[in-house]
Amino acid sequence: MEELRDLILKLAAENALKYGKANPKAVLGKLMASRPDLRPKARELASLVEEVVSQVNEMPPEALKEIATPPKRERKPQGRVWPPLEGAEEGNVVTRVAPEPNGYPTLGHAKGLLVPFIYARIYKGKFLLRFEDTNPRVERLEFYDAIREEFSRLLEAAERELGLSPGKWDEEIIESYHIPKMYELAERLIKQGDAYVCTCPAEKVRQWRREGRECEHRDQPVEVNLELWERMLEGDFKEGEAHLRLKTDMRHPNITMRDPGICRIVEAPHPIHGDRFRVYPVYDFSVSVMDSLTGVTHAFRSKEFEPHVEVQRTIIRKLGLREYHMVQFGRITVEGIPLSKRYIRPLVESGILEGWDDPRIPTLRGLFRRGILPEAIVRFFHELGPSKVDATVNMDMLAAINRKLLDPKVPRYMFVPDPVRAVIEGIDTPVEARVQIHPDSKEYRTIVVEEPIVYISKSDVEGLKAGDEFRLRGLATVRVRSVNPDEVSLILSQEQKIKGVKIIQWAPLKGGVPARVFIPLSPYSYEMLGGYGEPALAEMREGDMAQMLRMGFVRLDKRKPLTFILSHR
Ligand SMILES: [Zn+2]
Repeated sequence: MEELRDLILKLAAENALKYGKANPKAVLGKLMASRPDLRPKARELASLVEEVVSQVNEMPPEALKEIATPPKRERKPQGRVWPPLEGAEEGNVVTRVAPEPNGYPTLGHAKGLLVPFIYARIYKGKFLLRFEDTNPRVERLEFYDAIREEFSRLLEAAERELGLSPGKWDEEIIESYHIPKMYELAERLIKQGDAYVCTCPAEKVRQWRREGRECEHRDQPVEVNLELWERMLEGDFKEGEAHLRLKTDMRHPNITMRDPGICRIVEAPHPIHGDRFRVYPVYDFSVSVMDSLTGVTHAFRSKEFEPHVEVQRTIIRKLGLREYHMVQFGRITVEGIPLSKRYIRPLVESGILEGWDDPRIPTLRGLFRRGILPEAIVRFFHELGPSKVDATVNMDMLAAINRKLLDPKVPRYMFVPDPVRAVIEGIDTPVEARVQIHPDSKEYRTIVVEEPIVYISKSDVEGLKAGDEFRLRGLATVRVRSVNPDEVSLILSQEQKIKGVKIIQWAPLKGGVPARVFIPLSPYSYEMLGGYGEPALAEMREGDMAQMLRMGFVRLDKRKPLTFILSHR
């Protein structure tokens, strides 16, 4: 009802703005047109319409304008409705994202961030950012910062775009600071007879787990295990020489469950703690302990960890820790573009890519640099939902959302790739050309043309022959006199307001700004277009977005030389 009243109010305000006063009949007509489902109720609605109309006719025009054109973005979640979370109660949900700081986050990580974040906010719960940094060999300090930075941008965008507030994690946890606590719990498992130190070589462990065979260490007494554990911590063993293993069942149908390792030696400095630790918890151990100890009620994990769920539950139960819901979600693959660090890293290290922010790859910073708005990524995953199945997406889907966000607001510019000089006879210079800044706007930009020479694009020249007429956007209608490879000769048309002539882009010879546009093709290649743009390009700042007419949306990557990256068409 409230919603219906708002709709009538809006229609009445529009009507009043148009004709000075709103007319109940006209408003009712508009209402029926926009909501045919209400037609049977027209009679009953008439009095409501009348009431609203008389109200509207009392309002000042400013108020009417506000009602007729409400701000475009609604600050509440819209579009897809997310399915409820099992066992979730408002105010009592705690979720987390748990990235390992071993690389720059990609589009794939955005789902792992946004799904638990959105649920935490839907249920007015708490959202944690937890660094799973217990695998020091591949972790680096710069990755912690990159994750914080990129995740912040996405969450802030989620607040703006979906109204999920606050757009920030509520608490940051660095797992490695909890390693001493994990040692304590490991020791508890040993004392309970639920864990043992195995000094078999890794290859043998792997094979025997496959074959379901128990090794000689499995039944050694608790005291022996405690002593070996001490020696592991003190550095008596080298990496790979000893493991702490959970004692479960070596014939368990799930091979992952066959006495999995829970702590191992890593002889590599930790990015935060240096060589303070030698023994590090294995993923299953740290993730389950940390989720339980930090109050997580719903732990989201990607489906590939499914066989590990049983291991994690077993650890929790053996330690008598608080249990929580484990929620699986499907992974994202981007059609034709590999997301894995394994693929991207060599390209970065070999110099084929400029870095982890290269706009050709779908790292979050690469995407941002390309001009994909954080809002577009948020909207994309919100629409996709928390699906449990793996999904293949393509960049076109993301581009379509991005285009929708950019189109209403970014200014249009002229850019002439592969320029050819065109001399215009019969035009008085200096002359001011006027180009519309945006098709929906009444604002114009002025371009001063000092000499009767402009650049037009080679691709436009190719179709031209003597006698053709076309319009130089915002400047003049011209006729072709002759076309030479290095110069086109034009003459001002007698009739300036010819309808239906082709409009082409140009840049003035004097004041035209040299610029280039990089078009990402694949992680290995770019296409580069060089040319001249209109003078206003020189005023753009790095990071500004624009639409190059007939080319697509671009982001200004750097000013010297003026370099744009094509986001998408
Ligand atoms: Zn063994």
